[in-house]
Amino acid sequence: MAAHRQHRPWHGETVKHESGLRSSYVEDCYLCPGNARVSGAVNPQYDGIFGFDNDHPCVGMDAPPPPAIAAGVYRNRAAQGIARVVCYSPRHDLSLAQLKLGEIEQLVAAWQREYSDLARRPEIDHVLIFENKGEAVGVSNPHPHCQIYATNFVFKTIETEAQASQQYLNETGRPLFADIIAAEQRDQTRIIFENETAIAFLPYFARYAYEVFVAPKQPHQSIATLTDREAADLAEVLKDTAVRFDNLWMMPFPYVMPLHQSPTDGGDYRAFHFHIEFHPPLRRPNLLKYLAGPEIGGGNFLSDTSPEEKAAELRAVSNVHYAERELAKT
Ligand SMILES: [Zn+2]
Ligand SMILES: [Zn+2]
Repeated sequence: MAAHRQHRPWHGETVKHESGLRSSYVEDCYLCPGNARVSGAVNPQYDGIFGFDNDHPCVGMDAPPPPAIAAGVYRNRAAQGIARVVCYSPRHDLSLAQLKLGEIEQLVAAWQREYSDLARRPEIDHVLIFENKGEAVGVSNPHPHCQIYATNFVFKTIETEAQASQQYLNETGRPLFADIIAAEQRDQTRIIFENETAIAFLPYFARYAYEVFVAPKQPHQSIATLTDREAADLAEVLKDTAVRFDNLWMMPFPYVMPLHQSPTDGGDYRAFHFHIEFHPPLRRPNLLKYLAGPEIGGGNFLSDTSPEEKAAELRAVSNVHYAERELAKT
């Protein structure tokens, strides 16, 4: 933590704001209902949530065998899998934050179905569901959607979290994530919002200024085993978090949002606790957190802000989306 540095003068690059005005349907958007995609497939006139296999998948089940390599230090194997896209809404102009609570509940149900369907396949060892949002993280199409990479390998961060959770359980007899939630509840200063079964907090160990974790309070290895009540509570906390992000600077707030769930390779992951992480790259409206010497060069994250201050900022803004409030005025 180096929170004293955040007010140093800045003379660098700024992030371009995305225009707040968009139309609900865009003719050349490959995600809008009724439109043709590059593969030639035509999207149905869907109403609600729509999932399909990615036309330009970064992983496929038919990946060619890797090239032979000479004996030595290097090893390789084929990365295979299934890449899917899930549209949150037929509306091109909405975002997770602007969906109605019922629509987010349907999205949670869709994530449960996608995870269960993919996890069941013996060739799939891990299901990574994630949303990239905003030009700041390289997304040019604002149509609200997430992606799924179901692969024959486990992604690194999940592997590390699974190992750490197991090690903590072995050493203390307690589940790691339950102790994290307990520590946040004791402290209170970094909690953004909680209801009976779900919680959002800016963790003590946050790397990004506005990094927020959303999780069920009870242990679940994946989203698939949430009860209806827990799924509804999770949807409410997700909406609250996404709305506060947008309201912070009255702009669509960019982030990378992965769902962290236990691998599906048949291992014992009873110590794993499903959670959703928001990684927003901005520290201020026009200021990206650059990964540089300490992060890229040294492998340690230098946080320029204090999590307690940033959590207080998020708590202070309204949980009614600014676009909704503007609409109410007209
Ligand atoms: Zn669209
Ligand atoms: Zn995680």
